[in-house]
Amino acid sequence: MPPRTKKFQIEGLEGTPSRDIGWHFGDPVPNSKENIVCKLCGKITTGGITQLKEHIAHKIGKVTSCLNVTGIIRESMMKIFKEVKEKKIDKKNENG
Ligand SMILES: [Zn+2]
Repeated sequence: MPPRTKKFQIEGLEGTPSRDIGWHFGDPVPNSKENIVCKLCGKITTGGITQLKEHIAHKIGKVTSCLNVTGIIRESMMKIFKEVKEKKIDKKNENG
């Protein structure tokens, strides 16, 4: 058994619909397109992997926040959201 690491896994998982970090925390609901069940609390989000990540990160939006998420996961998820945002801004600057 490998030692339990405190480091947050940000690599994509194998065998998931996409290489998205969100699949660490959710499983796709069979026979649905956008529904994903949260592995931490069992809540089903209906807006695809992005909405599941918002649920995990406690992002203010359409979804309710995950009650079972730990601080480190939540912070890491927030950081990922921030990085995505910054990357988008960088692209804008390059073009303009
Ligand atoms: Zn949850």
